Amino acid sequence: NKINIAIDGYSSCGKSTMAKQLAKEIGYMYIDSGAMYRAVSLYALRNGWMDNHSLDEDALRRQIPGIRITFRTNDKGVQETYLNGENVEKDIRTLEVSNGASRVSTLGFVRRELVRQQQELGKQKGVVMDGRDIGTVVFPDAELKLFLTAPPEVRAQRRFAEMQEKGDHSATYEDVLANVKERDLRDTTRAESPLRKAPDAIELDNSHVNIQEQFQWAVDMFHK
Ligand code: C5P
Repeated sequence: NKINIAIDGYSSCGKSTMAKQLAKEIGYMYIDSGAMYRAVSLYALRNGWMDNHSLDEDALRRQIPGIRITFRTNDKGVQETYLNGENVEKDIRTLEVSNGASRVSTLGFVRRELVRQQQELGKQKGVVMDGRDIGTVVFPDAELKLFLTAPPEVRAQRRFAEMQEKGDHSATYEDVLANVKERDLRDTTRAESPLRKAPDAIELDNSHVNIQEQFQWAVDMFHK
């Protein structure tokens, strides 16, 4: 009697942190739907179909059926993303790929293909999937839907602090904030399944909630 759990929200909101912790706690499989959009972005960048100015939609449309995205757990128990059999976990986490993911995710044919693959993964119940449209489009019948929010300044501050910690000084706080706002705008205004809270999703503004409290909240919602 396992169920599927949908976790949605804005960029850099702590969704994946919460989703991973929850999945581990209850013995479910975690699926990072954003990683799939990132993999498509990486594919388009590597093939020269996307740069700062243009995106060759036709080339991507023709090749999209040949893009296979899978997940595998490494020997440290960490899940990693594979693109056509190649481990791309590191490559998909760059700012360039992030920005590209935000762009390719506005394309209807990309969303349809990834949603199809995500629904396929969800057939084996007991999945925690995080993203933007999981509760609204991918698993509209999910028994548990969580929606995380926090103001852009809070999310940018967290992301910036994370970068500083890693020794990454490639961007200022202002750059990160601009990036967060840009992604929010694309996520909420795209024509194809824009980011919305599903009517039956339970919302948490985690501005003043730490990771442990947020995790506890998710576990409580699961047992309710
Ligand atoms: O969550 P993450 O930042 O890894 O997602 C990368 C990009 O993919 C986001 O900018 C978002 O626009 C897009 N995305 C989406 N639908 C999802 C998950 C991610 O459009 N279900």
